[in-house]
Amino acid sequence: MSPTNTLEVNAERLWATIERSAEIGRFRDTGLRRLALSREDQQVRDLFVGWAREAGCAVEVDPVGNIFARRPGTDSTLPPVAIGSHLDTQICGGRYDGVLGVMCGLEAIRTLNDRGIQTRRPIELIMWTNEEGARFSPPLMGSLAFAGKLPLAQVHDTKDDAGLRFGDELERIGYAGKAPLGNRPLDCYLELHIEQAPHLDREGCDIGIVVGGYKTLALRIDIQGETSHSGGTPMLERRNALVGAGYLIAAVNDIGLAYAAEQGRTTTPRIECFPNLPGIIPEHVRLIVDFRHPDPAGSGGNQSAG
Ligand SMILES: [Zn+2]
Repeated sequence: MSPTNTLEVNAERLWATIERSAEIGRFRDTGLRRLALSREDQQVRDLFVGWAREAGCAVEVDPVGNIFARRPGTDSTLPPVAIGSHLDTQICGGRYDGVLGVMCGLEAIRTLNDRGIQTRRPIELIMWTNEEGARFSPPLMGSLAFAGKLPLAQVHDTKDDAGLRFGDELERIGYAGKAPLGNRPLDCYLELHIEQAPHLDREGCDIGIVVGGYKTLALRIDIQGETSHSGGTPMLERRNALVGAGYLIAAVNDIGLAYAAEQGRTTTPRIECFPNLPGIIPEHVRLIVDFRHPDPAGSGGNQSAG
């Protein structure tokens, strides 16, 4: 029996939409640098909001800048089917990570419009603010605040490396919205995401279904040494914070390798060093250490991050 309700999206249009979005924040040859609340983030938000409005959606923004674009259903009392992801990227991110999840939702709405199909439930396209955490930490900030896991004031007071405040930057790009934060009933939530691992590609699979996540524990570790002259100070009298950090980074990696078979993961993704100058023994190092494991007990954490 052939299916009777097959509805195909317009693949060329979806592709063109993604390619157009990838013109904003181009970085290196094919990648993107579109940090949360930057000028590039503002541009891609404006583009997305314009497309959503053209597709007949009503757009709302909440106080952390999450965007909700709603296509009405025939029964407006029902909670919507939500589809979404994020449009911010890492400093050298890809053009599909997050973008695909937002734009395929838009394409689904455009396809329903083309066919004149009304749905009973509204469809809500969601763009979450600062999923990546590349500029403002932690990641998943918009969705955490939406879920009531992160207080609004804490989000607004978060600063980037340059000391710029999240709340001020959100205001500056025009996305400090007035829609209530959270308490927004959703019937279900769908997110298509590009695979961030080599497995599906290796197996020749086009698509997989997410059955779990990596629970994450992030630690901030401060190592205090003593600054001094790298010529004058005898080797045995040095307290070099960066050397201590080096041993720690290698040890963290060894822990990950030891648990590799059980899918344990460890990384030291970030290092800050002071004064970080030639000829000077480092006084202070701050590391971010990241432990992940499919089993929460394995990572010691309870928060899943992308
Ligand atoms: Zn993503």
